[in-house]
Amino acid sequence: METKNIKAFGTEAAEAPLKTLDIKRRAVQAHDVEIEILYCGICHSDLHSARNEWHGTIYPIVPGHEIVGRIVKIGDHVKNFKVGELAGVGCMVDSCRECENCKNDLEQYCDEGSILTFNSPDKHLGGIQTFGGYSESIVVDESFVLHISDKLDLAGVAPLLCAGITTYSPLKHWKVGPGQKVGIVGIGGLGHMGIKLAKAMGAHVVVFTTSLSKTEDAKRLGADEVVLSTDPEQMAKYAKSLNFILDCVSAEHNIDSYLNLLKVDGTLTLVGAPMDPLPVTSFSLILGRRSFAGSAIGGIAETQEMLDFCAEHNITSDIEIIGVNDVNNAYERLLKGDIKYRFVIDMASLK
Ligand code: NAP
Ligand code: ZN
Ligand code: ZN
Repeated sequence: METKNIKAFGTEAAEAPLKTLDIKRRAVQAHDVEIEILYCGICHSDLHSARNEWHGTIYPIVPGHEIVGRIVKIGDHVKNFKVGELAGVGCMVDSCRECENCKNDLEQYCDEGSILTFNSPDKHLGGIQTFGGYSESIVVDESFVLHISDKLDLAGVAPLLCAGITTYSPLKHWKVGPGQKVGIVGIGGLGHMGIKLAKAMGAHVVVFTTSLSKTEDAKRLGADEVVLSTDPEQMAKYAKSLNFILDCVSAEHNIDSYLNLLKVDGTLTLVGAPMDPLPVTSFSLILGRRSFAGSAIGGIAETQEMLDFCAEHNITSDIEIIGVNDVNNAYERLLKGDIKYRFVIDMASLK
């Protein structure tokens, strides 16, 4: 297949810093859209993957799945996009499209495994892995490309493609809305979007943070109440009080202490993906008929719904724009929680 060499930013080993790499993109096929990438968000999953913390990374890796840019070329059979339009790509670039889950707009749970934007087998080029959005451009089948409103700040939209949909999907699935008390745990990229979205859906939002310095911000983002989770006295006040909790924490933490904050029939859903197991005490679930659940990103149709919801409610991510050469430093700051609340790379800096 015809290919084109482009510049990207990635790494060849778990311990090595990210640097400029040359990668190949396929030439635009009949159903493909080629996007010049303008901004790409930095998700904690990029760091987990680049450093092989989930033990499946194939090197070299080019992370990045919060991609926004402008369409520069389309294939002959592309129906829904035009050259010159804004477009977005999130965590997936393809799936089998035939299994029950794909047919139900749940491509993220494809029985064959969805093709992720980076580090999945590239079925077009064969024998190599997909490369993500820390790059000049990307070529994606239009079925996995999203429409982006030009009403919102484009750089602030980029994180919606992962942090936005990953929090929107479970909030919708567990029917979060008016009259409900919802807990959001961890104010990072995902958590800060969870606060904004849960608030926009009409819930009473209680935020749990380990960072005292984020309490005022949490209120500005939409929290009705903020709890310092390291203070047992503050935590005790919320026992059996919440209908739903969305856990957005990237590292090990005590799940029981959050399960005990749920009312009868309440659910705690994990979207944060720490590498080590998280122990749960049986009685935290039994006494209260509580559920402990998980959720992965969201399907393509739901991602478009979320982007439209954000355009309607004027919701974007709170970001810090960086150049590509600041990515390694940004990873270190991410580990320290030193970001309010998402790094976004200005891809012009790669040129
Ligand atoms: P992030 O920006 O680094 O935020 C993580 C937050 O977790 C921090 O801001 C901090 O919040 C809290 N935290 C960090 N270390 C902690 C510790 N040791 N104890 C308690 N709290 C701690 O990360 P992110 O990009 O939002 O991603 C969060 C997690 O979700 C990652 O594991 C990522 O891989 C995963 N993820 C999952 C999906 C999915 O589909 N399920 C999609 C995207 C990302 P406070 O300072 O407020 O305490
Ligand atoms: Zn992500
Ligand atoms: Zn499938």
